[in-house]
Amino acid sequence: MNLKDFIYDVKDFPNKGVNFKDITPLLNNVEAFQYVIEQISIFVKESKANVVVAPEARGFLLASAVAFNTKTRFVLVRKPGKLPRKVLDIEYTLEYGTNHQQMHVGDIQPGDKVVIIDDILATGGTIEAIIDLVNQQQGQVSGISFLADLTDLHDKSLLSKYRVQKLIEY
Ligand code: 5GP
Repeated sequence: MNLKDFIYDVKDFPNKGVNFKDITPLLNNVEAFQYVIEQISIFVKESKANVVVAPEARGFLLASAVAFNTKTRFVLVRKPGKLPRKVLDIEYTLEYGTNHQQMHVGDIQPGDKVVIIDDILATGGTIEAIIDLVNQQQGQVSGISFLADLTDLHDKSLLSKYRVQKLIEY
């Protein structure tokens, strides 16, 4: 199956000059979505993970199905103001300005084996922030899975010390 057939390029979204990868056609195809969930599930099992972690919003779409399929816990990473209880917060730098990611305190237990799941790896800022949140709670990152890697947007050595799954590369 050529997964690239189910990811559409959208020019100038959300801002001029950005070429956005739209993954919704993949969710709209039963075989493609099931194939992706199965491939990530195999990776989670091989990583011997007991927890999957994902950021909103598209990471949730993949990770929730994978957690169900692999009988692992699911932990949410969200933008400020969304998680109702006490949070850990991390600020990270974007091209213009900064962003925050948050996780509920106690969602990860020391020694948990974690696979982080997201749809797209672009500059790497988001994934580095999530790794930090997992480490702050003494979780162990045993794998990181992306539907697609936009390889031109980050250094080759990014994440080189982790087990990484990428179903598609651009
Ligand atoms: P990064 O922090 O690596 O620059 O950006 C990755 C995050 O932004 C991911 O959570 C991803 O969902 C989102 N993202 C960045 N670019 C794209 C894109 O072209 N398409 C989609 N679907 N998400 C993107």
